Amino acid sequence: MSEIDDLRTRVAQACRVLGSLGLAKGATGHASARLPGTDRVFIRARGPGELGVRFTTMEQVVEVGLDGKLVRPNAQGLEAPLEVFIHTSIYKVRPDVYAVVHVHPLPVVLFTITNKPILPLYGAYDPASAKLAFKPIPTYPRSILCDTPERGDELAAAMGQSNCCMMKGHGISTAGNNVEDAALTAIHLTNLADVNYQARLLGDPEPIPKEEQEFFMREDLNPKAVNPGAAPQGREAALWRYYVSLTDG
Ligand SMILES: [Zn+2]
Repeated sequence: MSEIDDLRTRVAQACRVLGSLGLAKGATGHASARLPGTDRVFIRARGPGELGVRFTTMEQVVEVGLDGKLVRPNAQGLEAPLEVFIHTSIYKVRPDVYAVVHVHPLPVVLFTITNKPILPLYGAYDPASAKLAFKPIPTYPRSILCDTPERGDELAAAMGQSNCCMMKGHGISTAGNNVEDAALTAIHLTNLADVNYQARLLGDPEPIPKEEQEFFMREDLNPKAVNPGAAPQGREAALWRYYVSLTDG
């Protein structure tokens, strides 16, 4: 398989995982990846006959430029999603980012609606998700579609150097070193929001202390990505295989 088809296959698989977990309902939501060393972006397309994010195939992953436009027309009539600018704007200002995910997970949207913070409420229960809230999670304050380059740039500015951004009354955008990484960040943020939601039903949730947060930032627990854009390794790869096994593959 060519490098590009491998990338398209991984983007489609990430979409199927996100759809199967309910982070992307129906046809809304998309993942993309940038071919390392280039500004070539491959993103889930919209078009006639589509069956939704949960059922994305690699044929439905198309190439767009950083202007958000299709690089070449296709016989199936596939088009870039309206919110392609979420992806292209992040790629433009974040050379460290090789993949972007945009989905609408309800537990996170509930927090953006109520202006309640998502807090790091636990440690060893699930450190990968808790650490997303060790610093305040940025929020894009508008609920409209990011369907112009200007709105994409606004979202990218709100996200800054973070790898996740909540979008008020809308959803989330995540970024990563590879598409599996960006998808896992979306899953982690959703899981964290879900625990925050349930904890608020029971009482007043209390974040874990700062020194315990620092424990989970140890280097051996947070290995740095080595190869830009390459598939994940180690524990992240194992977790991804688990989520893939929950889908049809
Ligand atoms: Zn959206």
